[in-house]
Amino acid sequence: MSPLKSVSKKSVTPVKYLIIGNSAAGVAAVESIRQYDKTGTLAVVSDEPWHTYSRPLISYLLEGKTTQEKMRYRGDSFYEKYAVDTYLGVHAEKLDTKKRTVTLSDGVVLKYEKLLLATGSVPFVPPISGCPAPNAGKGVYTFIKLADALALQETVTASTQVVVIGGGLTGVKATEGLLHLTKNISLVELAPRILPNALDTAASDIVKRRLESAGVTINCDASVSEVLTGADGNVSSVRLSDGRTIPCDVLVISIGVRPNVELTKGTDIAVERGILIDETCQTSVPDVFAAGDCVVSHDLTDDSKRILAILPNAYQQGKTAGAVMAGQDRTDKGARPINATSFIGLPLITAGKTSLTAEQATEQGITIIVDSEGENYRKLVIQNDRIIGFILLGAAYTKRAGILTDLLNRQVPLSSVGAGVLQTPELLLFDKAERLQRMEGVRSI
Ligand SMILES: Cc1cc2nc3c(=O)[nH]c(=O)nc-3n(C[C@H](O)[C@H](O)[C@H](O)COP(=O)(O)OP(=O)(O)OC[C@H]3O[C@@H](n4cnc5c(N)ncnc54)[C@H](O)[C@@H]3O)c2cc1C
Repeated sequence: MSPLKSVSKKSVTPVKYLIIGNSAAGVAAVESIRQYDKTGTLAVVSDEPWHTYSRPLISYLLEGKTTQEKMRYRGDSFYEKYAVDTYLGVHAEKLDTKKRTVTLSDGVVLKYEKLLLATGSVPFVPPISGCPAPNAGKGVYTFIKLADALALQETVTASTQVVVIGGGLTGVKATEGLLHLTKNISLVELAPRILPNALDTAASDIVKRRLESAGVTINCDASVSEVLTGADGNVSSVRLSDGRTIPCDVLVISIGVRPNVELTKGTDIAVERGILIDETCQTSVPDVFAAGDCVVSHDLTDDSKRILAILPNAYQQGKTAGAVMAGQDRTDKGARPINATSFIGLPLITAGKTSLTAEQATEQGITIIVDSEGENYRKLVIQNDRIIGFILLGAAYTKRAGILTDLLNRQVPLSSVGAGVLQTPELLLFDKAERLQRMEGVRSI
């Protein structure tokens, strides 16, 4: 996938719909706008030079399970089909909401009628003593963009020693991808277990054993206190807070992400960690919308406002924002965190509320049902006769995830479908039309 050429115009260019960000939220908005307005000018700006791609696939690229071509989030003719002017490989530097302009890094100024900020996330890089700046040629990398995966692909060979900081979703995915290039990988995680936000101890241990048997050294309850460099300024080892040192030529910092709110600086757009939006995805400034990882979302699981940095949420919000920008009456009531992925060949689906202690469960009247069979593990979290969360690890449990997801999303009282649904969620509990609908399972958007 070679970088796309951007359309470059040197004067102030009027655009009816301007979208900053060329990923899940931005693409959904394009499709949604064009459903209602076939002719209004529409421009997409992204500092990544590529055709839109599916971000979660960057680790699969490292692993050799996909190619840049196959990673495309939409077909080759996407921009032509939807009549989109692309400004790719350029950074949107300044937003002036009074003048309704966005100034790009190449000097181009775009004047919008409706603006969507779909700027996603930036990697969180904590200050670590002695650590060279990431992605500056000194062996330190982040793992969030296609360019990160390509740089690692070019650098890491079978003899490279890698340390990955962060045992969350992206850190473990980076580790899995890198295993294809080298077996010398140490993972450092601050929490007592890997994937601490997604999995409980039992499920986390299953994934940990898989990673260890693939050759990864896992250090939990550990943090990197210092990065040591050689005479060339390149990273040479990391020192952990317990005094141990781990030699490495490559350090991947994958601790987490933060909403990218850079463009809101100096504007009246309200931000509280992420950009604040209403149910129509509009920000506090009229005609400026925001969607995806950069916003504060409404988590329907516990009615809270928080960052839900997952692809289906970005897509849904982008779709709503696009429709409203094109004059439709549309609202987005919120989302439940649902994620379908796999680790070292084990499929995993997590949804809703899953991490709580036995005491919290008792206090809140929550029932937890756990089943396991070898490397297959299932945890159902039930409150007020409804499923509020689950962990499904391994094919034995993930294959019927569609039914549980549906029960969770629609908050169906379990007593209305029969207790047997939790043991063997049989489709026969539903009538034929519903069966067909539910058999679609969990689809990735
Ligand atoms: C390794 C990895 C694995 C993941 N796995 C999963 C998974 O299994 N399931 C899941 O649901 N989600 C997963 N995610 C998260 C998912 O990729 C994100 O939630 C989703 O991509 C968010 O889409 P978005 O459109 O909001 O923003 P992004 O995908 O972050 O895209 C925003 C774009 O805007 C560009 N941009 C930002 N600011 C500017 C600017 N000022 N000027 C120009 N361009 C700008 C950025 O460069 C970027 O290209 C994963 C993410 C990573 C990194």
